[in-house]
Amino acid sequence: MRIVIVGGGLAAATAVTELRDNGYDGELAVFAAEPHLPYERPPLSKSVLLGDEPESVVFVHDEQWYADHDVELHLGTTVTAIDLEGHTVTTADGDHAFDKLLLATGAQPRHLPLADAANPVYLRTLDDNRLLVTRLREGVQVVIVGGGWIGLEVASAARHAGAEVTLIETLSLPLLGVLGPEIAQVFADLHRDHGVDLRLDARIASIEGAGSDVDGARRPAWPSTTAYSSTPRCAPPTPTCTPSETSPTMTTRRSAGSASSTGTTPSSRPRSPPTTSRALATRATARPTNGSPTSSPTSTTSAWSTSATPPPATTSTW
Ligand SMILES: Cc1cc2nc3c(=O)[nH]c(=O)nc-3n(C[C@H](O)[C@H](O)[C@H](O)COP(=O)(O)OP(=O)(O)OC[C@H]3O[C@@H](n4cnc5c(N)ncnc54)[C@H](O)[C@@H]3O)c2cc1C
Repeated sequence: MRIVIVGGGLAAATAVTELRDNGYDGELAVFAAEPHLPYERPPLSKSVLLGDEPESVVFVHDEQWYADHDVELHLGTTVTAIDLEGHTVTTADGDHAFDKLLLATGAQPRHLPLADAANPVYLRTLDDNRLLVTRLREGVQVVIVGGGWIGLEVASAARHAGAEVTLIETLSLPLLGVLGPEIAQVFADLHRDHGVDLRLDARIASIEGAGSDVDGARRPAWPSTTAYSSTPRCAPPTPTCTPSETSPTMTTRRSAGSASSTGTTPSSRPRSPPTTSRALATRATARPTNGSPTSSPTSTTSAWSTSATPPPATTSTW
């Protein structure tokens, strides 16, 4: 039997790990659009963005692991079509057969057309993180659109780097939808205490100017739409995932019969438990260890830690 997995994120890496750990010894191939080994994204807005950990922490396994476990890796290879009747996926190289297919194509940031002219950073990939790291510097003016987890985490990292940060949120408090008013207020106060200019109940009318080439000098603000939510990448279409949200576009000949791990709508997306304390502004990072993916939090990072011994963290689910 030959199992093909489309996608190169945590879901894909976890699937191959579990398949091998549970005794599957047939053919296993991963087609991943990004050129990187499968990696997890939480550190991209936390420890790696802060510079506390090397970029290498994001990778679920090293290249040797895939070789040792006989997993075919097709990196930088986008699946553009799926033929469910013929049991093939199509890439630029041609058609590839499968017996079982797993879609692990994840999500992508929602596009904010208003910001196009400003050449914003959308923080989703390792490459986005690398770009952001080069831009977050002392004195640079940063505008972050969206006061969700990722927006707040980037605000924290940007202040840590010495940037001036304005964060724009349409609701009356950041994280209001996920934490409720009481705890959301704590986060708002925390970020204001650390110099973030929070603009709440605010909507962007227009975005003008802004350069993509930040050289350390003070420049007109450039926006980073890091927390403007995300949409699932999907194929075939389902009631919660339409072709207009699919990127890159995949076509299918039949819409039944295959497993899918295309993510969920933003409102129902499962997340790691957050760390909610006055001294910690970022979430716990769920990270697989020793080839055994787990959802247990293994580390927390924050630019806001103010004491050597942070108060005990309380966790909640949402
Ligand atoms: C900056 C950031 C911080 C986050 N922090 C947290 C956190 O603290 N806690 C938490 O629980 N969640 C967090 N998340 C969300 C979490 O990362 C996602 O839930 C997770 O990435 C989903 O994994 P996935 O493998 O399903 O999809 P993804 O990570 O989206 O991976 C899908 C992969 O499939 C590839 N792909 C898509 N279409 C194709 C195609 N046609 N052909 C080939 N490849 C394709 C994509 O290029 C991508 O690499 C964070 C996300 C981001 C961006």
